Amino acid sequence: MTALIAALAVLACICFAVMRGRWALAWLAASLVIGAAEMQAMKIIDYGAVIVAIITFTVPIAHWCFAQALRATVNAGLSSRWLNGAIAALIGLSLAMLAAGADAFWQTLPFQIAAVITVCDGARCIAQRRSSFLDGAIVVTQICVALMLLLRVPILSPILGGHSHFSTATQDALLSDMLTAWAILGPISVALLIAKVVGGMVSSYRSRAERDDLTGLLNRVAFNEHLEACQDGALILCDIDHFKSINDNFGHPVGDRVICRLSQILASQRGPAARIGGEEFALLLPGATMGDALHSAEAARMAFRIAIRSDLPEAGAVSASFGIAPIRSGTSVQQVLAEADDALYRSKKQGRDRVSIYQTVKPENQRSGCLPRPERSCFLPNRVDATDA
Ligand code: GH3
Ligand code: MG
Ligand code: MG
Repeated sequence: MTALIAALAVLACICFAVMRGRWALAWLAASLVIGAAEMQAMKIIDYGAVIVAIITFTVPIAHWCFAQALRATVNAGLSSRWLNGAIAALIGLSLAMLAAGADAFWQTLPFQIAAVITVCDGARCIAQRRSSFLDGAIVVTQICVALMLLLRVPILSPILGGHSHFSTATQDALLSDMLTAWAILGPISVALLIAKVVGGMVSSYRSRAERDDLTGLLNRVAFNEHLEACQDGALILCDIDHFKSINDNFGHPVGDRVICRLSQILASQRGPAARIGGEEFALLLPGATMGDALHSAEAARMAFRIAIRSDLPEAGAVSASFGIAPIRSGTSVQQVLAEADDALYRSKKQGRDRVSIYQTVKPENQRSGCLPRPERSCFLPNRVDATDA
């Protein structure tokens, strides 16, 4: 058992060295090293006061370090001062009772309660921020650990020379069951914690690869994946009007805040939103009709104007132009983007601060029987300003 804990401690140290800055792994390594020391102390047959004092100290501190590791995985900081004070007081009480020569049952009770409290603190912290199946598994495991600690209370005292509540045979059977349970619960707890740290790292790197730093919206690459997967709906492109002059007149930080404000508005729409350029954005509305898309774009346009007026009056009157294109199965991503861009260009050309939709209509000459130009489709683009629609 000691060898297993020591091996896990080495594993945690290696993981900590490899995954720089993951303090959860440093706390885990500390917990395992202290746990290994506790196991070594428990192996000594002839328990003197020093060994009991070491056990009194190592049992709650090993669990406290593990609880800090759990807290670090969710950036919750250290346990509260009150809890730490209570743990210290209970350890102190156990040490004082040891010095006073109290019965082993009463002497071991406070520090084991301290261990239960700190395990519950770690489990509560994960339960409050639960976001995956893994978190649920961690909480259940920690509840089992707390129960094991409570069950150990009547077993530990006779081992340390106190009065036994059971016959020797029952005592030995319980001890062996408990060691088996620890041999299972310990590695499971460690594996779950390492899995949580690794999972957190993977999702943080994925988020960095897919998200725009300033706004938190999707970046162009991630957005294109959504666009490729969409067979039916609408694409809205959006560009802030005269943005260069906002930067020039009020400074880059104000410009950044204007970008963030529009991003918030687009993120609140029902489809995935992206920042695809400096002050250019895209919003995908899967399954939306052109009417829905027009409604969404108009709502975003109005919300942006109002938001800037109320939240960033120093930026003056700021507006944005929008272009919408339908997404039909069979149309390529490039074609949809080009069509939405055409519609946006139409908005800019017609005076900005408006929404335009892209439409294809048959040209007059084709109705009169004129053949289409050989290199083109018989449907030619005709941009329609939505404000006229
Ligand atoms: P239009 O109405 O035709 O779109 O004019 P515009 O001034 O908005 O467009 P233009 O392309 O001339 O200027 C875009 C400006 O956006 C230029 C660039 O300095 C600025 N910009 C690009 N990225 C950022 C950013 O992250 N933060 C800030 N503050 N400005 C940015
Ligand atoms: Mg612009
Ligand atoms: Mg632009």
